[in-house]
Amino acid sequence: MTSGLSTIGMVLKSRAWEGAGPEGVTPTQAQALESLRERPASLGVLAARLGASTATASNAVSALVHKGLVVKEPGSDKRSITLRLTESGASMADRTSAWPDFLSRAVETLDPGEQTAMLRSLVKVIRTLQHNGDIPPQRICLTCRHFHPHLHAGSAEPHHCAYLNEPFGDRHLRLDCAEQVDASPEQQRRAWQRFVSQQTRPAGT
Ligand code: SF4
Repeated sequence: MTSGLSTIGMVLKSRAWEGAGPEGVTPTQAQALESLRERPASLGVLAARLGASTATASNAVSALVHKGLVVKEPGSDKRSITLRLTESGASMADRTSAWPDFLSRAVETLDPGEQTAMLRSLVKVIRTLQHNGDIPPQRICLTCRHFHPHLHAGSAEPHHCAYLNEPFGDRHLRLDCAEQVDASPEQQRRAWQRFVSQQTRPAGT
C-alpha cells in the first residue's frame, strides 16, 4: 500500500517537473499559480492550500513576483497582503495546470464504487495527517463546522452539509471546499468518530 502511494508520488513529482520545468517554474510555483487562479489569497491561506510551510510558500511567491506572474496587493484590512495573478500568471497557470490529466485518466479506470472508496480513504488519510500536524489545515468536510456525518444513517447519502442544507454521500466528500469553516476541536473529534465507525450503504442497494 505505502509502496503504491510512493510510486504515485514519484510519478506525480516527475510529471510535475515535465509540465512545469519547461515553462520556467517549479512544481510548487505551478501549484501556487493554479491555486491563485481559482481565487486570490494571503500568503498564509496559500500555504495551507498547498499543504506547505509558510517559508516554502513565501519562496515560491517571491520567485513568481520576480517573474511578473503574481502581484502583491493590499488586503481588505489594509494590513494584510493579497496575492493575485497577473495576466501572464493566468496564462502560465492555464498551461501548467494541464499536467494532472494523466492521473484522472488512470482513476477513471476504477468503477464508481472503487472511486468512492478511494476518496473516502484519501479523506481519512488527509484528516489524520492534518490531525498529527504533518500537513497544514486543509479545507475538508471532516474538519468543517457544517459537516454532520451519518445524520441520515442507513441512506446512500448519509452525511449532511448544513451550509447547503443537503444530504450527500461519500463520493461527494470535499477535499478543498471554499465554504469550509473549521469546527471546534470537540466537534471535529465527534465527527471523526462517527465518520469512521459507520459505513455508507452503497448506492442502489
Ligand atoms: S461546507 Fe463544504 S466542507 Fe463544509 S460540509 Fe459542506 S461541502 Fe463539506
